[in-house]
Amino acid sequence: MSEIIIGIDLGTTNSEVAVVRDGRVEVIAISEGVRILPSMVGLADDGSLLVGEAARNQYVLRPERTVRSIKRRMGETSRIALGDKDYSPPEISAMILRRLKQIAENHLGQTVNKAVITVPAYFSDVQRQATREAGEIAGLEVVRILNEPTAAALTYETGHQCARKALVYDLGGGTFDVSLVNLEGDVVEVLASHGNNHLGGDDFDQKIVEFALDHLQTTYGAEVADAARLSAVALARLQRAAEAAKITLSDHPYAMLAEEYLLLHQGDPVHLAVELSRGDYEAMIAPYIAETLDATHIALAGAHLTVSDIDEILLVGGATRTPLVARRLEEALGLVPRGELDPDLCVAMGAAIQAGVIHGDQTSRVLVDVTPYTFGTAAIGMLDGEEYPYCFIPLIRKNTPIPVTKSEVFYTAQDGQERIDVGVYQGEDRDALNNVEIGQFTIDGLRRDAPAGSRIVTTFSLDLDGILHVTTREKETGLEHSITIANALARQETDQLDAARERVRTLFGEAPSTPGSADGDGADHRRQRVEALALVEKAERLLGTAGAEDGEDLVNGIEAVKDVLDQGKEGLKVAMDSLADLLYYLEA
Ligand code: ADP
Ligand code: MG
Repeated sequence: MSEIIIGIDLGTTNSEVAVVRDGRVEVIAISEGVRILPSMVGLADDGSLLVGEAARNQYVLRPERTVRSIKRRMGETSRIALGDKDYSPPEISAMILRRLKQIAENHLGQTVNKAVITVPAYFSDVQRQATREAGEIAGLEVVRILNEPTAAALTYETGHQCARKALVYDLGGGTFDVSLVNLEGDVVEVLASHGNNHLGGDDFDQKIVEFALDHLQTTYGAEVADAARLSAVALARLQRAAEAAKITLSDHPYAMLAEEYLLLHQGDPVHLAVELSRGDYEAMIAPYIAETLDATHIALAGAHLTVSDIDEILLVGGATRTPLVARRLEEALGLVPRGELDPDLCVAMGAAIQAGVIHGDQTSRVLVDVTPYTFGTAAIGMLDGEEYPYCFIPLIRKNTPIPVTKSEVFYTAQDGQERIDVGVYQGEDRDALNNVEIGQFTIDGLRRDAPAGSRIVTTFSLDLDGILHVTTREKETGLEHSITIANALARQETDQLDAARERVRTLFGEAPSTPGSADGDGADHRRQRVEALALVEKAERLLGTAGAEDGEDLVNGIEAVKDVLDQGKEGLKVAMDSLADLLYYLEA
């Protein structure tokens, strides 16, 4: 059996191990379905060593026998107490590495003696040396210490002949690093790096914990909130619940924080049950994200680059799954970050790819199943500075790994609105009508007494077979509707679609859309279409009160407009004029 080299991401919060076999990168499972090992070690009461999840569970009850975030102390000469002994930082890290080595050996069925281990780009020589030492203590020859942003960039495809500059934005549990890297052929070079060693997802959790404590204070009074603050167990439970809520909010517009029997106060149980919306959560964490953007600009200056020099943004670290991160980056840098690879696994994958290169393996590009299209719905919004009812609202973006579920909240536009039409579109245009409508349904029977702004939660789930489930739910009543669209992925390629759209346009005697004129024409036609639809709606409302003869005229007028809705301006204008005349006559 040939010797194998594993790749390890030894993180502050979590660690992972990966390997290249038969040209494929594989992140090795720690336990059934779990590929992430918390970077924690502890000593159980019976003296046995706990690593990973078990240590994390013990932390709540026995913090003095548990160590976390050892990576922050690599390179220090201090000793870390664990039970009645003390250890150096490399010794503690070695316990994590040893566990990963064992996991890899069990999985591969052979002994493993060599590894590539990643470190932050800003790590000093002393810190790198300490990491190497940790490997040696764990029985691993460290064949290469690799920078984390380099590892991430390796995963995101290499081999481009022309040089590209990537911004690697890495937001983990307790650290933030941003690096600028130059990619050329198979060579990845870090140009500059900056960050904050005490900023990450843990801070987001803490904000949610404070929110929960505030809620306890308003519901039960200050005494109860203080009691919760003083109880290590209650606080730990709040922290767990906060992290879970945070993760939910990455894909859903609301999350529930519910902990029954959180504590006893004067003999009475205290239950926590409060909902947090994504909007409120984003307001809490916005200052942290702003800080990361400041650091990003400092790193850019350090690399003597400007925003326009960046070719792509790569997201690394579990906390980058927070949608606000990509949104703010897009606003600040004008680029949509790439997100097709797992942000918490890509550093380990890159380490394995590097190990494969050292070993002489050929590694094909990392393959993941991603959706090649964006899926979304339409809502009223602003388009080209004007209010427009069919703004495309993407829910599942192109290149998102599947299976995936995303939901968003929408609001009704009118008081007592009883129905909503939901269009499901595939495409990339900001105008939903320029995308392909792949499904459509109507929610009827909303509450008549509900004011405008009632919340409707729409959920898109896309599975590996390309089946798209769309569900909408009125938040207050739970009224739910859904449709299933089979083979949502088996649609035509985008350029084929463009060609088809072009053919249809010419068929209707319209000028082909050329970059210069298209926008004006498109916008004109859009506006006219919207006016026509509004007219139809108005006519439909009048149908209920019109007499039989007028009713028939109305139906004919409506049909006439609908028939020519997608045709040239002139025909539509004629139909609209005659329907408008009819309405004028009926209203008078
Ligand atoms: P590190 O590299 O520092 O060890 P990770 O990259 O593993 O850390 O990131 C861990 C952080 O990512 C934790 O704060 C965790 O709660 C957060 N996280 C994981 N999944 C999500 C998610 N879906 N949404 C938001 N945060 C997440
Ligand atoms: Mg990391």
